Amino acid sequence: MTLPYEARVAVVTGGSSGIGLSTVELLLSQGARVALCARGEGRLKDVVSVLARDHGADRIISRAFSVLDSDAVNAFAADVEASFGRCDLLVNNAGQGRISTFEETTDEAWRAEYELKMFSQIYPIRAFVPMLRQSKGAIVAVNSLLAYQPEPHMVCTSSARAGVQNLLKSLSLELAPEVRVNSVLLGLVGSGQWTRRFAEREDQSMSREEWYGNLARKKGIPLGRLGDPSEAAAAIAFLGSHAASYITGAQLDVSGGLARHI
Ligand code: NDP
Repeated sequence: MTLPYEARVAVVTGGSSGIGLSTVELLLSQGARVALCARGEGRLKDVVSVLARDHGADRIISRAFSVLDSDAVNAFAADVEASFGRCDLLVNNAGQGRISTFEETTDEAWRAEYELKMFSQIYPIRAFVPMLRQSKGAIVAVNSLLAYQPEPHMVCTSSARAGVQNLLKSLSLELAPEVRVNSVLLGLVGSGQWTRRFAEREDQSMSREEWYGNLARKKGIPLGRLGDPSEAAAAIAFLGSHAASYITGAQLDVSGGLARHI
C-alpha cells in the first residue's frame, strides 16, 4: 500500500504497542515524521530505538506521559510544533477496555472509564486543533464496535465508546471544513490487550493459535480470526491521508465482519 504521507507530520497517542505502534511504523514507512507518546518510559524507549534505527531519529519525537494529563499533552503539542512545525494527522489511540458487568462496576470505575474514553480524545484534540486547522489535517479516533454493539460484560466501556462516537460526529461538523474527523471501529485485534488476556488464560496448555482460534469461533467472527494490528493501522492511515479527502464524520468498521448493524 502506498499512501501520500511525504512531508506530513502525524501524532499517535499510545504508540509504544499494538495498533498504535503498527500505525507509527506504517506512517514512517510512508514518509511521515511521527510523534508518539505512551505512559511507560522503558517500553517507549525500546520501540523508539528500533524505529530510529529503521527510519531515522530525526523523523521521530517521543514523550512519556498519560494523555489524561492535560499539561503534558499541551507540552507535547508545543514540542511537535517546535520540532516539526506542523501537524497533519492526530491518531487518538491510547487506552484500553474495561471488563465488568453493571453489577460489578463501581462508581469509581464508571468515572475512571468515562474519564479515559472522553479525555483521551478531548485533551489531544484541543491541543492539536490549531495546527490541524492550519494544515487542513485530520483526526482519526481508534474506537470499538462496542459503541454500536454493546456487550454486557463490558458495560461501561461500551457506553463510554458510544459517547465518543457522538462527540466525534459533533466535532466533524464543528471543525469542518478545515479538519476531517473519522474513526475506526475495531472488533477483536490481536494486540496488547488480547496478548495480556491470552497470558491469563484458564487453560495454560493452549497455544496462542488455538486460543485465538477458539475466541474467533466463540465470538462468531465471519472472517474466522482476530485482526492483526497492521490491518487496523492500514484503515487508520487511509482515513488520515489525502486518499480519504472527502470523508469526514465517518466510521470504518475493522472487525472481520463482526458488526451486525447495517
Ligand atoms: P495495547 O495495550 O497494545 O497498546 C495501548 C497503547 O496505549 C500502549 O502504547 C500504552 O502504553 C498506551 N496507553 C494506554 N493508556 C495510556 C494513557 N493514559 N496515556 C498514554 N498512553 C497510554 O492496546 P491495543 O493496541 O490493543 O489498543 C489500542 C487502542 O485500541 C486502545 O484504545 C484500545 O482500547 C482500542 N481497542 C482495541 C481493541 C483490540 O481488540 N485490541 C478492540 C477495541 C478497541 P502505556 O501502557 O505505556 O501507556
